[in-house]
Amino acid sequence: MKTGTQHLYIPGPTNVPEAVRQAMIVPMQDHRAPDFGDLTLGLFADLKKVFKTETGTVMMFPGSGTGCWEAAITNTLNPGDKVLMARHGQFSLLWADMAVKLGLDVEIVDLAWGAGAPANEFARILGNDRHGKIKAVFVTHNETATGVTSDVALVRRALDESFHDALLFVDGVSSIGSIDFRMDEWGVDLAVTGSQKGFMLPAGLGMLGVSAKAMAAAEGAKMRRAYFDFTDMARANATGYFPYTPPVPLFHGLRRALDRMLDEGMENIFARHRRLASGVRNAVAAWGMDLAAEHPSLYSDTVSAIRVPQGVDARDVIRIAYDRYNCSFGAGLGPLNGKVFRIGHLGDLNEGMCLSAISLAELCLAAAGAQIRFGSGVAAAQEIYAEPAARAVQRS
Ligand code: PLP
Repeated sequence: MKTGTQHLYIPGPTNVPEAVRQAMIVPMQDHRAPDFGDLTLGLFADLKKVFKTETGTVMMFPGSGTGCWEAAITNTLNPGDKVLMARHGQFSLLWADMAVKLGLDVEIVDLAWGAGAPANEFARILGNDRHGKIKAVFVTHNETATGVTSDVALVRRALDESFHDALLFVDGVSSIGSIDFRMDEWGVDLAVTGSQKGFMLPAGLGMLGVSAKAMAAAEGAKMRRAYFDFTDMARANATGYFPYTPPVPLFHGLRRALDRMLDEGMENIFARHRRLASGVRNAVAAWGMDLAAEHPSLYSDTVSAIRVPQGVDARDVIRIAYDRYNCSFGAGLGPLNGKVFRIGHLGDLNEGMCLSAISLAELCLAAAGAQIRFGSGVAAAQEIYAEPAARAVQRS
């Protein structure tokens, strides 16, 4: 029997704050009632603050991030359109697979798992695309499989400098609401996320930021779509009423989650994630281990993918954590299976939680055969967490 607190250190779903959980315990209500829009219109307005868009629209689809990938593609592109994508982790790989399945002509830049989005290579390809054949460029802002954050602004610059008109699609599933994301400033046309990570909710809602340019593209786009059609959702955004039965308890949870996020302040949320991640990274360095991310400039503040030493199987680390310590770490995905375990450090999280993640990881790594000095990672993280917040962030 598992006793005590469940330790959930996966990069989503994340821990749901008690106040958010309570906010979802509501009697079912009439989603056609005259005052229903009071709830939904407020959500749409506040989501725009999190996405940092004034000119775009943020839609909510029952579903998850993957559904929004599909909505973004099918509403704005035409069958056979050429699109540019990079593959450098499980989620960028799956998005590219989806694009192929939906009938796009996908030009893929294959990179090591641990690399960031190849802004320079994209710039070269876009610069050579003199006839504007490429209709969209896709970026995975935070590759959750490898713990890599890419520079979206650089990709925007690559588009601008080659005077290219392609739409910019961004997967922000494990970044939006947790780390710096600026839809308008970076000229993002389609920004995908879901409820179960930075928004601290159960899975079940996909959120999709749509720029005015993407909305205009949707008017002529010929890919088949029905449930995910923007036309219906644009009406929901305008009226507050959905074309089908929406998941109302999740909306109440989202209301409470957005209140918490806006009260804390987006910049403070980003700084907290940076500080907590710095502690985890200090611990990994103290263990003498590496992250999957190729370079410190790519380190993600929401998830760390930790390479286990030669001779250790990361699956053992994860299994021991679950069986013995009621603790979940993220698995290594695809080719990283067995090679990394991931600590998700996003959402409703504090120093104490990160310290228990690190200390449990030490127990599990040792049990799986790694040479670990107990307490070394914990002490290294404490060094960061003991410092006043502003200094700790600067140092990392
Ligand atoms: N993209 C990224 C970066 C993710 O981390 C995930 C899920 O973990 C997805 C897409 C898929 O999202 P969902 O599971 O919400 O469909």
